[in-house]
Amino acid sequence: MDVKSLIRSIPNYPKPGIIFRDITTLWQDARGFRRAVDELVWPYAGDRIDKVVGIEARGFILGGAVAHQLSVGFVPVRKKGKLPWQTEQQEYELEYGTDVMEIHQDAIVAGENVLIVDDLLATGGTAEAAVKLIRRMAGEIVGAAFIVELPALGGRERLDTLGIRVRSLCQFE
Ligand code: IMP
Repeated sequence: MDVKSLIRSIPNYPKPGIIFRDITTLWQDARGFRRAVDELVWPYAGDRIDKVVGIEARGFILGGAVAHQLSVGFVPVRKKGKLPWQTEQQEYELEYGTDVMEIHQDAIVAGENVLIVDDLLATGGTAEAAVKLIRRMAGEIVGAAFIVELPALGGRERLDTLGIRVRSLCQFE
């Protein structure tokens, strides 16, 4: 059983010409979900990790499972206005315009080792916002882990220029 085969591709969603990679079909498969989390986590076995940061919203599902597996804490990075306590904020680009991501100011302690988790890496703009937030809190980023990578959109190179090691389980051209 291979993780990639459990991801559903939906043409023309959310708009014409886009193929959406739907990971819900992986989540709903018990062995597939387990396999994806195991494969994502094992390369970090020798690393010290203190926190997993998951990016709203699909990064919460995966990040929660990864944090549990690593026996470390989980920290959400959310879109503006959703977190109840004081936050750090970071603007990032969308296809049209910009948006803001937030993290609680007390979520990461200076010097903690952090693993970033999201379902999919495309341009890397979303992950870059998470990187900036974590670094502003003096967290050390161990890496960024994704189920899916879309190499044509250059996210790996973008994160590489920031000194972030990317790991993904599968790629779609
Ligand atoms: P990026 O900022 O361009 O790298 O886009 C990545 C973000 O968009 C992630 O948070 C993904 O959840 C979301 N995303 C973009 N395309 C897809 C897709 O085809 N399937 C699932 N999520 C996607």
